[in-house]
Amino acid sequence: MTSAIPPRTVAIVGAGPGGTTLAVRLRRLGYRVVLVEKAAFPREHIGESLTGECAIVLRDMGFGDAMDAAGFPVKRAVTVHGPNKLNRFRVPVQRLGEDGVIIPGQTWQVRRPEFDSLLLNGALAEGAELIRAEARGVLRRDGRISGLRLRDETGKDSDLAADFVADASGLQTFLSRSGVCGARHRGGYEKQVAFYGQFEGARRDLAPDDGATHIFYAARHLWAWFIPISSTVTSIGVVTPGALFKASGQSVQEYLTAQLASLHPELSERLRDAQPVSETWSTSNYSYHIDDFAGDGYLCIGDAHQFTDPIFSFGVSNSVQEASLAADAIDGYLTAPSVDRMNPIHTYADSVSRAQARVKTLIDTFWEFPLAFLKLAHYDRQADIAELLSGRLYSQSAETNEAGVIMRDLLAKRRRAEATPG
Ligand SMILES: Cc1cc2nc3c(=O)[nH]c(=O)nc-3n(C[C@H](O)[C@H](O)[C@H](O)COP(=O)(O)OP(=O)(O)OC[C@H]3O[C@@H](n4cnc5c(N)ncnc54)[C@H](O)[C@@H]3O)c2cc1C
Repeated sequence: MTSAIPPRTVAIVGAGPGGTTLAVRLRRLGYRVVLVEKAAFPREHIGESLTGECAIVLRDMGFGDAMDAAGFPVKRAVTVHGPNKLNRFRVPVQRLGEDGVIIPGQTWQVRRPEFDSLLLNGALAEGAELIRAEARGVLRRDGRISGLRLRDETGKDSDLAADFVADASGLQTFLSRSGVCGARHRGGYEKQVAFYGQFEGARRDLAPDDGATHIFYAARHLWAWFIPISSTVTSIGVVTPGALFKASGQSVQEYLTAQLASLHPELSERLRDAQPVSETWSTSNYSYHIDDFAGDGYLCIGDAHQFTDPIFSFGVSNSVQEASLAADAIDGYLTAPSVDRMNPIHTYADSVSRAQARVKTLIDTFWEFPLAFLKLAHYDRQADIAELLSGRLYSQSAETNEAGVIMRDLLAKRRRAEATPG
């Protein structure tokens, strides 16, 4: 952009990790960026375990030192515990170098109020503006989106003009609910409920794996997470089919307590001396995807258009990677001659859809073919699975990842068999 032209304005709904990453990237490309956030920060949020790829994005933006200084636990691995103690596997945070050499990596487990504030302050330091208000609808001029309609906490309405609107509103899916995107589809994992809280005194692995995530698998779609989020506090959650919870007749608190005692022997052992230090939270029906999530003058990133299942902690990682791709797409849209301006938007939608399909392949295989998944992760394709579970799902190499190809074939074979009559 030439300095004679005033910078174009991009309005971003939501100042979670996706929104703030996009804000930083766009500021560095010279845009005026206005973040619209309805919550007062710091605020609680689910999503505490980051992937290796997410750490690479954060370091690339220059947040590495601040993340280290915040004292977030270092995550070097995820251990998945099968229903009995024999079939457990540990997946290190690592990546494959271009020559196939394994490069050990690490990332962080975060306390979201502090993490999200750190990123928001970083975006403000880059010159992004923040409006504390709820986006209530979009403005249109000649049929195209031209800004946002806002309502602040005193109930006062105002309009924000913008050359482009990005939706990073997470599960609120603002642009979809405003009728801008296409249809919303429920995902295959939508009938699940998650119950979670924070505990002190949970037994961790010894250093250097004291920051490791543990996943305890009990049965199909019934599992628990164990994520150290400070030197003493561990986030523990149980994800369960909604029908099981309903049939139990228990309160949220009773159900969580009962599941923590019975879901997996190793989890109960680790929690023997643990005490809750937070309230118990719950969330349900969070699996969906939305059509036409990028179009003329708008796009959605992260949860604002798709969320599949939290089992592999991809949420924040996907949002920040999509934010990075979105910054280039928005820049392309706003600088290309008008006849070409949709090309970068289509490229964005295509890359993101492909990556989300890889996420779904991984998760579907884990639930539909647990033994095949275990074999790949533990024996046959360790490095490939570690690459995917480190969140490297948006790169070209993810398309040819051999474990990914095997999983795609497995699921396709099953779909063909199901479609064959008799
Ligand atoms: C049970 C469960 C467990 C999870 N565990 C993990 C995990 O371990 N690791 C992980 O990476 N992810 C996890 N996730 C996913 C993670 O929570 C999200 O993917 C992640 O927070 C998405 O980031 P985001 O920036 O896209 O949106 P968010 O972090 O949700 O931020 C959206 C922001 O938009 C604001 N907003 C919404 N609507 C409006 C509006 N109309 N106007 C103004 N502001 C608005 C909200 O206040 C919020 O601050 C989990 C999810 C679930 C359901």
